[in-house]
Amino acid sequence: MDLEWNQGADLKARRESELGFEIIEIGAVRLDSDRNVADSFHEMIRPQVFHKMNEVTRELIHINMRQLRDCRDFASVAESFLEWCGSDYIFCTWGNTDLIELQRNMDYYNMTHMSEKPIVYYDVQKLFSIAFEDRKSRRSLEYAIDFLNIDKDIAFHRADADALYTAEILRRIEDASVFHNYSYDTYRLPQNKDDEIHARFDDYSKYISRAFPDKKDALNDSSVVSTECFICGSPTRRKIPWFTSNSKHYYSIVKCPAHGLIKCKIRIRKSASDESLYVVKTMKQATPEMVADIMQKRRNAKNARKERY
Ligand SMILES: [Zn+2]
Repeated sequence: MDLEWNQGADLKARRESELGFEIIEIGAVRLDSDRNVADSFHEMIRPQVFHKMNEVTRELIHINMRQLRDCRDFASVAESFLEWCGSDYIFCTWGNTDLIELQRNMDYYNMTHMSEKPIVYYDVQKLFSIAFEDRKSRRSLEYAIDFLNIDKDIAFHRADADALYTAEILRRIEDASVFHNYSYDTYRLPQNKDDEIHARFDDYSKYISRAFPDKKDALNDSSVVSTECFICGSPTRRKIPWFTSNSKHYYSIVKCPAHGLIKCKIRIRKSASDESLYVVKTMKQATPEMVADIMQKRRNAKNARKERY
C-alpha cells in the first residue's frame, strides 16, 4: 500500500489544522501467497481540509486541486479500500509512516478503528535492507528499484506506482527468513497488560508496553523493567543496573546462566495518537563490543551528572 498526502500550503494553514497530513490518494497491489500480483486498488481523494496544494507536494507528486475536485471524499474511499483489503491480509508499506497517517485520517473523520491494538505489518524498506544491505540503512524506493535492476517505466511518487514498485521489491526477496522481520505499527497502543507485545525475532526480542500517563509510572512497572532472559525465560543477574544516558534511553546488562550477557534497552516514546507515553524494550545477546559501549555510556552519564553539581 502507498498513500500520497498534502499538507497546509503555509505555516498558518498548518497551525490551524488538527490534521497534519491530508491523504489525497490511496494505491495498493494485492499479492497472493506466492507473491504474484492478483489485484490492485487506486483512487484519488477530494480534499476537505487543505484546499491549496503545498508547493513541495505539488512538485513531488504532480497532482493539482482541479484533478481532485470530482473525486470521492476520504471516508468513502478509505471504506472501499478496507473492503477491498478483505479480512485476511497483511499490509506491506515502504517505510513506517503510511499506516500512522491512514489511521490518523480515519480518526479525524471519526471512522471505525482499523484495529484496537498495534497492527502487524511488513516495512518493505526494512526488509530490503535486511535482504540486500546492512539491516540498518533505510533507502529511497528509487534506490531499491535501481539496485534490483527493476524497470522504471512509470513515474515515482504516485500511490499506484509506488505501491507497484514496493510489490516488485517484495517479490524479489528470496530468503524466506527475511519475512521473520515483521513490524508493529503503534498508532494504537496495547490497551492493557494482556495486549502488550512480547515478540521474539531471530536474534533479539521486542516488548511494546501499554500507554502510561508519564515516565515515572512507566519505569515503575514490573514488565517494563524486568530482565528475564528473552531466550529461556530464566531470571538473570544484573551486571549493570538500568541507567539513562539522556532520559529517553535506558540501558542495562544482565547475565543468564545459560545464555551469557544480554543487553537490554528501553526507549520511552510518545504515543502517536495522544499525550501518553509507552515503552519499547529490546533485548539482545551482548558481544564484548556492545558491553564496552554500554560501559562507556554509563561513564559518560556519570560524568555529565558530576558536572552539573
Ligand atoms: Zn537464557
